[in-house]
Amino acid sequence: MKQVSERLAALSPSETLAMSQKSSELKAQGIDVINLSVGEPDFFTPDFIKEAAKKAIDNNFSFYAPVPGFLSLRNAIVNKLKKENQLDYTPDQIVCSNGAKQAVCNVLLSIIDPGDEVIVPAPYWVSYVEMVKLAEGRNVIVSADIEQDFKITPAQLEAAITKRTKALILCSPSNPTGSVYSREELKGLADVLAGHPDIIVIADEIYEHINYTGKHESIAQFENIRERVAIVNGVSKAYAMTGWRLGWIAAPKWIAAACNKLQGQYTSSPSNVAQKAAEAAYLGPQDCIETMRRAFERRRNLIVGLASDIPGLKVRRPQGAFYLFPDCSYYTGKSFNGKIIANSAELAMYLLEEGHVAAVGGLAFGAPDCIRFSYAASDENLREAMVRVKKALAALV
Ligand code: PMP
Ligand code: GLU
Repeated sequence: MKQVSERLAALSPSETLAMSQKSSELKAQGIDVINLSVGEPDFFTPDFIKEAAKKAIDNNFSFYAPVPGFLSLRNAIVNKLKKENQLDYTPDQIVCSNGAKQAVCNVLLSIIDPGDEVIVPAPYWVSYVEMVKLAEGRNVIVSADIEQDFKITPAQLEAAITKRTKALILCSPSNPTGSVYSREELKGLADVLAGHPDIIVIADEIYEHINYTGKHESIAQFENIRERVAIVNGVSKAYAMTGWRLGWIAAPKWIAAACNKLQGQYTSSPSNVAQKAAEAAYLGPQDCIETMRRAFERRRNLIVGLASDIPGLKVRRPQGAFYLFPDCSYYTGKSFNGKIIANSAELAMYLLEEGHVAAVGGLAFGAPDCIRFSYAASDENLREAMVRVKKALAALV
C-alpha cells in the first residue's frame, strides 16, 4: 500500500490557506461570504511594476537565471537595505526565492540538524512550526499573551535557551498579532543572544512597510549579533505582489551559500518575470507603499473601533501588519443549537457557517484563546463583517 513519508504525515496543512479555501467553496455555492481569513493586500500590483514584467517577457528573459536571482535584482535589494535600513550587505549575501515562505524554509533546512531546537515565540505564523518539523528540528514555543502585547521578554528568551538551541524565529511586525517590537525591546533580545554565539536569528520582516509606529526596526542593526541574523523579506506585502512569489534573505555568506546550494537542487531561481518585476519595485517610485500603508492604518482604526464594540472580545490595538487578533475565550465553551463550540478553531468555523465571515482560529498560531481577522479588505466589507460577527456571537449561549 502506498503511504506518505513519516515526515509528511507529521505535517499539518496550512490553516490560513485552508480557511480561505473553505470560504471560496461557500462563495462558489452562491453564499455571500466575507473572507477575512487569508492575509494578503487587496490592492492591485502598481502599474509600473506590471509594465516591467511585460517588458521582461518581450525582452526574452526566458532563460535560466542565476539560482539566487539576477545580480541586478540582488543589487537593488542591497541598495534597499542600505537606504532604508542602514545595513551593509553584498550581493552574495542575498538569495531570492519563491516568496518569503521558501526563504524561511531554506534557512531552516540549511541550518537545522535533527533534534536541534528552534525557539518560536507564540503567537506565531502558522508555517514556522511546520517548517521546523520538516527540517526535523524541535519547536520550543515561548508564549506571550495579550497582556504582554504578544511580545516575548529577554528573560523568557534566556529561560528557553539550551545547549541544543540553534535558532530563534522573530517576526516583527507580527503575523498574526500585529505587534511590533521597539528598538529597545529588540536590543534586550539581542543582548541575551550575544551571550549565546551559536544561535542564528531568522528575522521575518515581510511586514516591514506595514507599520504604524513610524519606523521599522531590524534586529540586524545590533553589531553584537549582526553576523548571525538572516533577514527574510520580499515584495508580497509591501508592493501587493503575493501571487508573484518573490521573497529573499539577507544573511551571513555561509547561510546564503547554503540556501543557494539547496535551492539549486530544489527549485532553482524564482521566475525571471517576477524577478524583473521585483527589481522595478525596488528601483521605482516608492509612494505606492505609503498609499497602501495609510489605507491599512485607516482600516486598522476602523476594525479596532468596531470589534471593541463587541461584548466579550478582548481587543488590542495592533501596531503593524493587517491583522486583528482579539481574545475570544469569552465565547469558547458556549453553544449554538445545543452544540458546544469547544475552541477558537470551532468558533472560526461557526462564524464562517453561521455568520458568513471567514477568520482563522488562534490554535494554528499557537494561541488557542484568540482568533485572527485580516483587515486587508474594503471598509464596507469590514463594517459588514463586524456586524455579522457581533450578531453571530450574540446568538451563542
Ligand atoms: N512570513 C509571514 C509572517 C507571512 O505572513 C507570510 C505571508 N503568508 C510569509 C512569510 C510568506 O510570504 P510570501 O507570500 O512572500 O511567501
Ligand atoms: N500571510 C498570509 C496569511 O498568513 C498568507 C497565507 C499563507 O501563506 O499562510 O494568511
